[in-house]
Order: sequence, then C-alpha cells, then structure tokens
Amino acid sequence: RGTLLVQVRVAQVSGRHLVVLAEDMTQARRLEAVRRDFVVNVSHELKTPVGALSLLAETVQDAADDPEAVRRFAGRMQAEAQRLSALVHEIIELSRLQVAGALGPLAMVEVDTVVAEAVDRARTAAAAKNVRIEVGGDTGVQLFGNHDLLVTAVRNLVDNAVAYSGDATRVGVGVREQGDVVEIAVVDEGIGISPAEQERVFERFYRVDAARSRETGGTGLGLSIVKHVAADHGGEVTVWSRPGRGSTFTIRLPRVPHQDTTSLATAQND
Ligand code: ADP
Repeated sequence: RGTLLVQVRVAQVSGRHLVVLAEDMTQARRLEAVRRDFVVNVSHELKTPVGALSLLAETVQDAADDPEAVRRFAGRMQAEAQRLSALVHEIIELSRLQVAGALGPLAMVEVDTVVAEAVDRARTAAAAKNVRIEVGGDTGVQLFGNHDLLVTAVRNLVDNAVAYSGDATRVGVGVREQGDVVEIAVVDEGIGISPAEQERVFERFYRVDAARSRETGGTGLGLSIVKHVAADHGGEVTVWSRPGRGSTFTIRLPRVPHQDTTSLATAQND
C-alpha cells in the first residue's frame, strides 16, 4: 500500500511523437489480491469442518457396535455441521455485502426495533451464561437504511459481547442520536481486546483466540460483516477496549447515507 503502481503502454508512434498511456494499477492490483486472499482463506476455513466431519464419519463406522459411542460422535457431527452451515451463511452474506448497491432500496428504519430484534436473537445464548442484556439511551430514533442488515450487524456485536464475557456479567446496548448521526454502542464486561488486536479484529477470519472462537461457534467473519454493513450505510464501526475489563463496539451511521457510499466497502481489504 502507498506505492503507486503504474502500467505504461506505448499507444502510438508517429514520426517523432510517442504517445504513452499510464494507467494507475494500484487499486486494480489491490482488489485482485484481496479477492485471491479471500478465496485462499475460504478454502482453508471450509477444509477444517469438512475434514472433521469426514474423520467423525469414519469413527462412527468403526464404532458401529457401540451405541453410546455412536450417539456421542453423531452429536459432534451435528455440531460440526452447524458450524459449517454458519460459516457458509456468513461467507455468502459477506460476499453479498462486497457488491456495490448491497443495501438495496433504502427505507426508514426504527432503531428501537433493530436493537430489540438483535437482542431477542441473542437471548438464549445470554440466558445460558446468566448474562443480562440491558437496552438504554434514546428512543424513537429513525434512520434511512436496510433494516435486516442493521439487525445482522447489531446482533453480531451482541453475540460477541455475550460470547466473550464471563458468566453473570452485563451487556449494554445504547442508542444515541447526535445531530445527523446515530450511534449504537454495545458494551460488555468481558475479556477485552489488546490494542494490537483491536486493529485486526475487523479483518476477515481474524480471531484473537481461534480455539475459543471455535468453541463459541465463531467464524471470524462477524466483525467483518459489521464493518461492511456500517460502511455500506456511509458509517463506521469502532472499538474501545481494555483487556480483562471489557469492550465497547460503536456503530456510527448518518441518518441519511450519501448515495455514493455503497462502493466504499468494496475496495476495503477486510
Ligand atoms: P468470531 O466469529 O470469532 O467471534 P468476529 O469477527 O465476530 O469473529 O470477531 C473476531 C475476533 O474478535 C473474535 O474471534 C474475538 O477474538 C474478538 N472479539 C470480538 N468481539 C469481542 C468482544 N466483545 N470481546 C472480546 N473479544 C472480541
């Protein structure tokens, strides 16, 4: 990044005149590299659960005369299949978001409803850990956007807040309207993220602790999806965190996105 890559072509030679065309290849090269990386990452990430499934299937066959073992391995196969299905779903979601115009036609969105739906879907996981989710801040806030994508984004943040927090902690979701900007913040009292990792967590497939993320059913794509949804709305997502104390993820969105923001996310590397 930062270097200008120029493709030079001699377009026409006539007499003593030489016409040279210089084309900026930086962006094209970068997008190509991003696409290539994505394909490599996707195949690597898909190989893990597929490999595990095939190994488990073999084991089940070998354990055919032990019903208890069969039940146990079948349970693990089911968990692995669910993980694979979540991964495929998120890969498709992210690919859709990377296409310009992913927002579709904009509509007036009630932020209260977005937050309520996102929190609702995270309730089961929260209840299992005795985590209390509290919603607060401004009510009746509206913005122009895509309701379903915003639910997905907020839900990813709430899911993470629950997943990376200890038992019996609290997760807060706050809405604030500041002039033409709407802020949705998700606060947790969980394990936190170190400054070096804060810069990387929005990258596709990046996980601070891959083993822990796998345990909680994480794919490493959640925050990348949040970033794209925010960017597609002409906004952004930021993180503030103190390791061991907790994290706050904040989505900031203009109430009315500018028309040309949808292509921004496409050019990003994550
Ligand atoms: P995952 O599916 O692994 O949760 P994400 O893209 O949602 O993937 O998050 C990337 C990584 O960022 C996670 O694996 C985790 O290490 C870290 N992370 C995300 N949210 C939080 C949080 N609220 N607290 C601590 N770490 C988090």
